[in-house]
Formats: sequence, C-alpha cells, structure tokens
Amino acid sequence: MALVFTGPLLNRLTPQVRRKIERAYSKFPELADRRVIVGITHKRGLDGYAVVEDFCIRLNVNRRTVSHFTIGHELMHLLQKPGLGIIPDGEIQCDIWTLARSKLFLDEMPSYLEVHPCTDETWEHHATLVRELCIRAIEVRRSNRRYIVWLKNMLQRYLDGPIQLELFPAPA
Ligand SMILES: [Zn+2]
Repeated sequence: MALVFTGPLLNRLTPQVRRKIERAYSKFPELADRRVIVGITHKRGLDGYAVVEDFCIRLNVNRRTVSHFTIGHELMHLLQKPGLGIIPDGEIQCDIWTLARSKLFLDEMPSYLEVHPCTDETWEHHATLVRELCIRAIEVRRSNRRYIVWLKNMLQRYLDGPIQLELFPAPA
C-alpha cells in the first residue's frame, strides 16, 4: 500500500475510518503503485476534496461518519486530469464512475449526480439500480457522447416511475 496519512489525520483517525480509507483505496488498482496522501479538511459543508496534482485527498473527519462514497469520490478525482487522466473530467462524471466502481460506494447518495426524488432515507432502496444505470452509461459512452443525458433520462424514468412504490417497504 502506498497510502500516506498526514500527521493531523493520524491524530484524528479512528480504526473505523482507517479501515474505510484502506477498503476504498483497494478498489483503485490504478493507484496501487502511486503514493496517495490522505489529509483532513475542516471546511464547513465540505465532505472532502482532492488536490489532484499532488495525488492528495482531504477528508472532513468532523462529520458524524465519513462514507466510503466520499473517500471513493475523492480518490476517483485522482483518475481525472491532471492526475492519471483515464476517466472524463467533471464532478458528475466523478460520481458516475465512483458508483459504478464498487457496491462499497453505495453507502451515501451521490453529491452531483441528481437522483431525485431519493433522500438520504430512501437512497438505499435505489442505490443498486442507480449503480446498474451508471455501469450501463459508461458502456453507452463508447458509442454515444451524450451518455450523461442518456443516464439522466433513465434515472428520471426509473426514479419517478412506478418503482417509487419500493419507497414503502412491505410490512414485516
Ligand atoms: Zn468532487
């Protein structure tokens, strides 16, 4: 492993968050022989951010929980330019590739990809479907540059449609 934790992060790092960072990083074989620095940020309202040119991500450990999704999203930025440059630039793109990469990253709603009418409470009922659509969108991109429009249409169709009934779980 080539993860480097900064001093301020080490001071705040719980075993649980350390495990999450290591598990998230393990989903990025592209970064396996890269030195990736993980630090902290205290910026309010910010879950984290990436300093791509330094192969550094900063996480807000003041949050109640740091999600695998947040860690995965920030690591995914390192695969964009000016990092490895192997996935398309942009925040929505970062969300799509993160959700597609692993079920591990379904533990929180995406930040930029709109999944209306999902809420934090109902996201878990839709996460697997949204992930499937993200995987398909990445395939669609091979032949269709408007793959994000395609994805948005599919999300609207599936999330606004009768599937919403799933929001109301059957009584146990
Ligand atoms: Zn981002």
